[in-house]
Amino acid sequence: MRIIGGVILIVFGIIFLLPEPEGFPILEYHQVTDEPSEPGFEVYNVPPADFAAQLDYLQAEGYTTITLKDFMYAVNGYRTLPEKPIVLTFDDGYEDNYKTMLPILEAHGMTAVVYVITNELGQKNYLKLDELKDMEKRGIEIGSHTADHLPLTELDKITQRRQLRESKIYLEWSGLEPICSLAYPNGAFDSELEEILREENYLTAVTGETGLNTLETNPFELYRVHIRKPCFGLIEFKFRLWKAKFFAKLKAL
Ligand SMILES: [Zn+2]
Repeated sequence: MRIIGGVILIVFGIIFLLPEPEGFPILEYHQVTDEPSEPGFEVYNVPPADFAAQLDYLQAEGYTTITLKDFMYAVNGYRTLPEKPIVLTFDDGYEDNYKTMLPILEAHGMTAVVYVITNELGQKNYLKLDELKDMEKRGIEIGSHTADHLPLTELDKITQRRQLRESKIYLEWSGLEPICSLAYPNGAFDSELEEILREENYLTAVTGETGLNTLETNPFELYRVHIRKPCFGLIEFKFRLWKAKFFAKLKAL
């Protein structure tokens, strides 16, 4: 038992001592509110004060927020990324993203990507179309979280395509910029989805897998760092960023 413990300690020690991994984080948020919109969703809401403190920290650490369109411009060689990029993403399209999150974001001069479930738009606690348009005008990239938030890996090919196509077309025909990015509902994805996503003119897709991203990362399997309601304030936020680095080091081995 002691030997096993020793080996684990040595392995962790070696990983800890490895040089800083390359790559940038994509943070995964849901709601920014003191009051989660649905009971049982408490873990997904970050209180506004914590969110502001997290942005203060990122700013102090020299991070620059980019969108996933900026990332794809860089992948294709049209732009260079800032020295320390980071992407802030928000899943599901809750209305507090507009009313609470956006003002805090703008006060920090930052941008984000908001993934909406198109059949939830305008429902109670979800974003309305005019709010979404205003967000886009103010520099937010809008992405698709499919039409109905069904786990794609459990659907047949026709339904998968319909979920991806309908949400994208609805947003674009409503007057929004071309939709380029998808967030997999429940983080459920497989390698076969990439082909459908390419055919439906998506350029990127974010998963729920932990890690960091480089220009070489498969753009349809981008890693994220899940930010939950913190129990231990900013220390927990720093720990989650550190955990993503740790996973990136493991993958580089
Ligand atoms: Zn979701």
